[in-house]
Amino acid sequence: MAIHVSSHPLVAHKLALLRDKATTPKQFRELVRELSWLLGYEAMADLETRQVTVETPLEEMAAAALEPRVGLIPVLRAGLGMVDAMLELMPTAQVWHIGLYRDERTLKPVEYYNKLPDAATVQVCLILDPMLATGGSSAATVDILKAWGAARIKQVSLIAAPEGIATLSAAHPDVEIHVAAVDRELNDRGYIVPGLGDAGDRQFGTFAGPSSEPGHDSDETAEVVRRLQRNLSPDR
Ligand code: URA
Repeated sequence: MAIHVSSHPLVAHKLALLRDKATTPKQFRELVRELSWLLGYEAMADLETRQVTVETPLEEMAAAALEPRVGLIPVLRAGLGMVDAMLELMPTAQVWHIGLYRDERTLKPVEYYNKLPDAATVQVCLILDPMLATGGSSAATVDILKAWGAARIKQVSLIAAPEGIATLSAAHPDVEIHVAAVDRELNDRGYIVPGLGDAGDRQFGTFAGPSSEPGHDSDETAEVVRRLQRNLSPDR
């Protein structure tokens, strides 16, 4: 399992602000963007470069250019807030949208949008999803990308739950996971705790939706979470 948890003080500082319930949607979006920039920078530290020749005002020299074609795969909708920062880092990256929603009761991913062409057009894919919660959407996205022919896949998230890391790395041990923090656990409603709440609602100011209604839970959801937690630790 390859999990990279950032130890950068700027990441820790910005994450604390992001978690704060007093943070407004505008500030939240700015922080998601800044954290994505920092995590993206770390996640791409091992990308290959090829030698190119550059002419400075003084002389010709050997320099480096990014070799692989990179695809950004934001998981809708919360992953959208991570795209701009990644495009600032890699303006030539392609953005491929895959729409999966998490069934609020079963917590299972349901695909509703996928326009990938027949064959992979990139070598490295970065799945962008602020919250790696159950890991179900991420594992399903990796299934889709591997079937497409993507050779190398990394997941970039702001916060992960241990249950999500376990699910994704059991299904796809070759996928590197880059996060700002690993939190304690999922609660009965499938939210990461302490977490930051609903990353989509907090970015887009949609607090009246069903996912943010207090008390929106079901026995089925709680049972899915308990099953994930039993897999994590057989004694629980
Ligand atoms: N998705 C979110 O936005 N927040 C969580 O805590 C879990 C999943």
